[in-house]
Amino acid sequence: MIPAVLPTYNRAPLSFVSGEGVWLTATDGTRYLDLGAGIAVNALGHANPELVAALTAQAGRLWHVSNLYQIPEQERLAALLVDRSFADTVFFTNSGTEAAELAIKMARRFHHGNGRPDRVEIVAFEGAFHGRSTGAIAAAGSEKMVAGFGPLMPGFVHLKWPESEADHAAIRAAVTDRTCAVILEPIQGEGGIRVVPDQCLKGLRDLCDTTGTLLILDEVQCGMGRTGRLFAHEWAGIAPDIMMVAKGIGGGFPLGAVLATERAAESMTAGSHGSTYGGNPLACAVGARVMEIVADPAFLAEVNRKGGLLRQRLEALVAAHPNVFEGVRGQGLMLGLKCRIAPADVVRAGYGEHVLTVPAADGVVRILPPLTIADDEIAEAVRRLDRAAAVLEAQAA
Ligand SMILES: *Cc1c(COP(=O)(O)O)cnc(C)c1O
Repeated sequence: MIPAVLPTYNRAPLSFVSGEGVWLTATDGTRYLDLGAGIAVNALGHANPELVAALTAQAGRLWHVSNLYQIPEQERLAALLVDRSFADTVFFTNSGTEAAELAIKMARRFHHGNGRPDRVEIVAFEGAFHGRSTGAIAAAGSEKMVAGFGPLMPGFVHLKWPESEADHAAIRAAVTDRTCAVILEPIQGEGGIRVVPDQCLKGLRDLCDTTGTLLILDEVQCGMGRTGRLFAHEWAGIAPDIMMVAKGIGGGFPLGAVLATERAAESMTAGSHGSTYGGNPLACAVGARVMEIVADPAFLAEVNRKGGLLRQRLEALVAAHPNVFEGVRGQGLMLGLKCRIAPADVVRAGYGEHVLTVPAADGVVRILPPLTIADDEIAEAVRRLDRAAAVLEAQAA
């Protein structure tokens, strides 16, 4: 018999009743150290008092009015985002997937508005993840996500992850006079913490500029302070035309956004897009508090420092367990442990030592703790991962 909840997830046999900071308490009272943060969502930890205060204050006043009316909380969050980014304007969604939908629509509409309705093709990369809507799965194109869901939305071109000069030449060749946009994650999350080198992002920006193509960055996972900059692309010194954010921006409350330059957004006129819930007062009250905390340069400096510390500890972990791990990758507190064994086995061994991590593609286990993790919690987390690796080694022996 089918379970009452549609069985589309491979869930661990764990459930939690409460959380505090980087800690989660399971139904049996066991405390787990959370290095997954709800897949990079709980950027400020569980039950963060400042977010609880922002949410409950708003909850007692007003939840939802719809976008038929002005929403001051939305305007406030938009102003914070515009002030701290390349963007001139923001549209709020409830998720990353919805942000991907709008990013695609906005890019096509831009060229349509510029008398080039033939420019509809979007160049995307293998290993990408942009969400699970029909548009987002067509954009990412992975066989695992699209099988049986066709016909897919047309107009996407999928390129190999750029590693060699030949791959770069293939990118240049793929951007033609039918190309509307290039979409990519500065650091692939689901794809296995694959970092796009700064030079490559710069090259893509140049290519887009010379061809009149829009650059869409998906910062749903790598944005909002995760890499030690407010947005990951800042490391490369470039800016996109359109950017998707979600996950960390709500700190656990469902919220996403599309940020864009005035030029890229110029064809998104009244009536061209909408959402019932997107940017409602509850979500935006929380999002504004998250932004105020995360965008503080002192907070981001701490993310960098702690990212460096965690990385150093993880390098030592890899060196101590060369049969389990191969290396560390990523930036800031968006790190990946490349494994020599199945990542799912490493994650499962972590459960045994009461530490939570997240599997990804490309043989990687993701380490995405709350950005508020303390130094002693970093040390404790790596001790637990070390014990998990020792258990795996003993099993293999
Ligand atoms: C999670 C994710 C999405 C989809 O976001 P949802 O909120 O699950 O719809 C899109 N892009 C990236 C890079 C993501 O990590």
